[in-house]
Formats: sequence, C-alpha cells, structure tokens
Amino acid sequence: MSLAEAVTRGLAPDGGLYMPERIPVLPQNFFDTIREKSLHEIAFVVAQAFVEDEVPEVDLRKLVAETLNFEIPLKVLEARLQPGSPEALLPKTSNISVLELFHGPTMAFKDVGARFMARMLSAVRKGSTSELTVLVATSGDTGSAVASGFFNVPGIKVVILYPSKRVSDLQEKQLTTMGSNITALEVEGSFDDCQHMVKEAFQDAETRAAKELTSANSINIARLIPQMFYYFWAYAQLSQTKKELVVSVPSGNFGNLTAGLMAKRMGLPVAHFVASTNVNNVVPEYLQSGLFETRPSVQTISNAMDVGNPSNFARMLDLYGGDVREMHKDVLGLSFTDEETKAAVHEVYTTLNYMLDPHGAVGYLGLRTYLEHAKDHADQIQGVFLETAHPAKFQDVVEKTLGTKVEIPTQLQVYLERKKEAKLISKNFNDLKQFLLA
Ligand SMILES: *Cc1c(COP(=O)(O)O)cnc(C)c1O
Repeated sequence: MSLAEAVTRGLAPDGGLYMPERIPVLPQNFFDTIREKSLHEIAFVVAQAFVEDEVPEVDLRKLVAETLNFEIPLKVLEARLQPGSPEALLPKTSNISVLELFHGPTMAFKDVGARFMARMLSAVRKGSTSELTVLVATSGDTGSAVASGFFNVPGIKVVILYPSKRVSDLQEKQLTTMGSNITALEVEGSFDDCQHMVKEAFQDAETRAAKELTSANSINIARLIPQMFYYFWAYAQLSQTKKELVVSVPSGNFGNLTAGLMAKRMGLPVAHFVASTNVNNVVPEYLQSGLFETRPSVQTISNAMDVGNPSNFARMLDLYGGDVREMHKDVLGLSFTDEETKAAVHEVYTTLNYMLDPHGAVGYLGLRTYLEHAKDHADQIQGVFLETAHPAKFQDVVEKTLGTKVEIPTQLQVYLERKKEAKLISKNFNDLKQFLLA
C-alpha cells in the first residue's frame, strides 16, 4: 500500500496499524555531518526516507518547514549554585538535558504530529476535488493540536468531539474558537463515549457512503514519522560529546517512544530508551514479566498519559518480533506515582532552576533513575528527557506543587479571550450522524 493510502485510511481494514514494510537505514555520512545541519534539513532527510517520491522534493521541504515553524531547543540543566559557595567558581555541566517539544501553537508536543499529518494529507490529495472529513475524539490535548494543525488546510474539514465539562477552560477554548474548517461538538458524555461515537461513524455504512472519513488519532502513521525528527535533532546537538545517549520518553499511547525506536532502527546511535509512565504502567510491566495485560486507565496528574491499553504497543512488538528480551535490550520501563511526580517538579525547580510540567517530570524521573542504576559509569552517559508540554498547560498542579505563580504565555492567553463556539449533542450516535449528513 502507498503511504498516501495509509495516511488517508488511518487504520487498516482489519483494525491493525500500518507499519512501513522496511525501515530505511540512513548513510553514515548523514550522521558524520549532522552537527552542521539545520532542524529543517534533518527533518527533510528523515521524512524523505519514508515518503520517497510520493511527494515531490520541493513540496516535502515546504511541508517540513511549515510543520516545524517553531523551535525545539535542547537545554542542559545546570545545578543552581549558592552564591559565594566554592563550587560557584566551577559550574558543573550536568549530564541531563531536556528537549523542549512544546513550542508549537498549542504548547504540547502533539503539534508536531498534527501539523505534519494535516499537510501530508493535503499533499497526497492534491488535485482531488472531494472533501475529506477528519473525525477526532479528544480528552483535551489531541483535539487542540489537531484543530490548530488542520486550521485552513484546503479540502479538509475537521470535526472534534469532546466530553462536556471534562476538559479544562483553556483546552475548551483551544478546541472551540478556531472557526473556519474546524467544528467542535460538545458531547454530553465521557471521553470514552466520544471515542465510541467516532468508531460508530466509521462502521456506519450510510455515513461512510456519504462522507469520506479519516481519523487523526495517534494511530495514523503520518503522526509517527515527524516524531522521529527531533530524536535526530537532539543527537545532532550532542554528538560531539561522544558519550552514550540515553533518552527518557514520558509515555501514554507510546507513539512518541515508538518513533524513537524507529529512529534507532534508522541508525541513530541511542544506547537506551527509558519508557517512563505514571501508574498506568502496562508497558513497564510487560518489559518486566513478558506479559501484556491491559486494564482500565487510572486518573493521574499527568493525564495525557492515562492509557490502559496503549495502541502503539502493537508497533513496538512488531519492531522486536514479539520478543520481550530483544525489546528489553533497547528499552527500560519505569513507572512513577503522582507523589513522586510532584516531588520531581519540586526538586527540579529548586535544584536545577527549571519548571517542569507533570509529564516532563515523569520523563525526568525515568532518566534520573536510569542514571542511578548506572552509577559506576554515569559520567559516560549523556541523558535527555523529553518535555512534552509547557507547565502552564497544567497550571493548577504546578502552582500547588511549587507554591509559585505560573505565567500563562501570551500564545495561550489569546485563546482565553476568544468566544466559545460548539454544538452540544447527546452521546447518541444518531446526533453525530445527523450532523455529519446535514
Ligand atoms: C500525548 C501526550 C503524552 C504521551 O505521548 P504518547 O505518544 O501517547 O506516549 C505525553 N505528554 C503529553 C503532554 C501528551 O499530550
């Protein structure tokens, strides 16, 4: 199947997830010169390895540049030294860096995947006259990234279903104030109800006959490809250290980690990954026991990672031929409680002078624990953890934990001033169907 088809369909007809037939390995000279390359150049090379000639080079370069119209800085965390203390003369560079993935328009890393997918869909449908409807159920963050990523993309209409009164004010404003080709449906029900309605729409023959539908949830392969870019980008900035690279990924549905594992298959020299989770730890448990036992998710303060049956686990299994020992060579699984997460937010703020959100804090904990296990050679390791959201997106928890005010960046503040526009519907599928067919 072509990439175009896989991207348009989202999910395979048998309910499975699309995977590339083979994962291309990038030539050694790409890695030898990666330090001199820009983020856009690196991203283009990685994308083209998968896209091949399905999108012309000039278009793909433009697509990548439009996706990444914001920075992805890598920051070394330095210990905050007491003024006057003798160490102040010798500032020690720590071996912990944070890769900030939250500088996109909605300030969460899902912007990267959503922006790329929107443009990819549009590129592969170039010349098509029909209209494509993207349906997405959201518990908050995915919907806002999709709304912003697909805003004004020609030929595509987006319908977002979100659970009434169960998203934060800011999230609701991010979902409901875009206008143009984005419509928000406020569902009188839970996130599971929203997801169920979306699934019903895909199965309903009458709806499918009338509307060309696709989904923008994280199972789409077009969301995975761009998430590889920034692993290469982090390496580009650290390659001169010649240390072993270890990357900790705060995980929920495991799309982000899967992208990292695929980057490694492409030749990226990462020694180890840490799959860091909150108490929804079915993957760390699998890595321990070899048994994958899904269960209903538990609510935590890192709520974008409250997933009891992570979809991308199927892709992880595929990458390792279903062999837990093979996966364990590349991935260490660690999970943390809310108490540990809050303590980490506090610790990093007071000792390293850096404000984390709860998801990034789980990533930090994974890396710190890894470095503790590797005490005897920790100085040969360069650790990176991914920070997936701006702390202001989780203002309540962060403020309570730190006892300080968290500034809302103007980029988010503008949403709060806009007027909500959503259509209230019941959780009955017929309401959605009527809307789609009207
Ligand atoms: C979605 C999300 C995650 C989890 O990413 P997965 O790819 O689903 O594992 C982590 N942090 C934040 C802030 C998110 O929105």
